[in-house]
Amino acid sequence: MRYVSTRGRAEVLDFSQAMMTGLARDGGLYLPETIPTFSAEEIAAFEGLPYEEVALRVITPFVGDSFSQDELRGAIARAYAGFDHVARAPLVQLAPGHHLLELFHGPTIAFKDFAMQLIGQLFQLALAKSGDRITILGATSGDTGSAAIEAFKGLPNVDVFIMYPHGRVSEVQRRQMTTPAEENVHALAVAGTFDDCQARLKDLFNDHAFRDEVHLAGVNSINWARVLAQIVYYFTAAVSLGAPGREIDFTVPTGNFGDIFAGSIAKAMGLPVGRLVVATNQNDILHRALATGEYRVGTVEPSISPSMDIQVSSNFERALWLAYGRDGVAVSQLMDELKSGGFAISQGALQALRETFESGRVSEDETTAMIATIRAETGEVICPHTAVGVAIARGHIRPGVPMITLATAHPAKFPDAVEAAIGIRPELPPHMADLFGRPERTTQVENDADQLKSLILARRTA
Ligand SMILES: *Cc1c(COP(=O)(O)O)cnc(C)c1O
Repeated sequence: MRYVSTRGRAEVLDFSQAMMTGLARDGGLYLPETIPTFSAEEIAAFEGLPYEEVALRVITPFVGDSFSQDELRGAIARAYAGFDHVARAPLVQLAPGHHLLELFHGPTIAFKDFAMQLIGQLFQLALAKSGDRITILGATSGDTGSAAIEAFKGLPNVDVFIMYPHGRVSEVQRRQMTTPAEENVHALAVAGTFDDCQARLKDLFNDHAFRDEVHLAGVNSINWARVLAQIVYYFTAAVSLGAPGREIDFTVPTGNFGDIFAGSIAKAMGLPVGRLVVATNQNDILHRALATGEYRVGTVEPSISPSMDIQVSSNFERALWLAYGRDGVAVSQLMDELKSGGFAISQGALQALRETFESGRVSEDETTAMIATIRAETGEVICPHTAVGVAIARGHIRPGVPMITLATAHPAKFPDAVEAAIGIRPELPPHMADLFGRPERTTQVENDADQLKSLILARRTA
């Protein structure tokens, strides 16, 4: 399988290379040259299989010769062994026709573990073969960073530097990043927003001399392997509700457009996904883009669903590339225009996007109210991101078509927002119960690429 950049000017890579590289050298994002498909019979055969087996079948065609079947099977088994639910991604019913897909049974209790745990295993395999050592650099609105640290802490040949916006992540998120004692873990509190962190990440990756010197590798949702791992649960969830024999809709709490983009790939692979509903909080660039055709950057307003406090949504570039008929020149132009604030999506591309994606936004008050409503209606306690999804999904349910809303984090990851809504402070799962007793270690840095570079050079353990 060959991987090409959305901007059309970077080297074509195989799966392993695209995974290790993250951001393409022309500034674009890697995507498979062709999207493999499954027949209805092949999808029907997923029914009742363990999550790991479906993962193996879905991931295999994207991997090519990079890993053998045995290597891949072993990596998948180790990736999900630490999850605390045997189904890995269980479904819970909320109402007639509306289901919740619980994606928070991994070690850092947010859906990011699905991809990051697998990437950790695949990186280890690739590094063992090449003998390289690498520096992982990530930017996080909270959950990616903790998931990456959990997946890479203590590994030989790897340093992991995670930038998070100082003061803008929840205390549980921060502590998950600052309490691991392993020497190769470096949490960096950046004076800025998540978008600043993401912009500095791109600066460092686009400095090719620096990038080569420290063997920079990226694990943000721009990394294709992350998107790939997230395709799997669309299949397991849809098949357990009757696909491929019927259509299934999904609503996805969205920030960087990685998780929902994975759903659109599942659809392109042959899964009968009807609508994919983009659910945003008050930081609603994606909702505005789909509603008006204008992708315009605003200012980030901190919210009670901080993992979605994003204005520049990296993976949207992948959806644009597909909607523009894989035209790298057109995508490059749009990304240039974005530097001065935004761009208009062409009529044709907008129409193509609207064939798959719908969208909605909810306010902070509606989010809080929905946490209380779901508690009253079902007894379930949901996190604020999930509540954004549930609130929007309720307005998009079609008769006869099951709706699945992705529950992206455990409520205990955002206890203040949940307590404000229902007066109950959700408890952390047992493996994290001592989180507030562990010592923290973090470094405050300016929102400045040069300072970040010197710090990484000085701190690397090799
Ligand atoms: C990362 C995250 C999101 C947004 O996911 P994207 O792939 O960036 O769209 C939503 N909810 C939670 C809890 C997250 O951690």
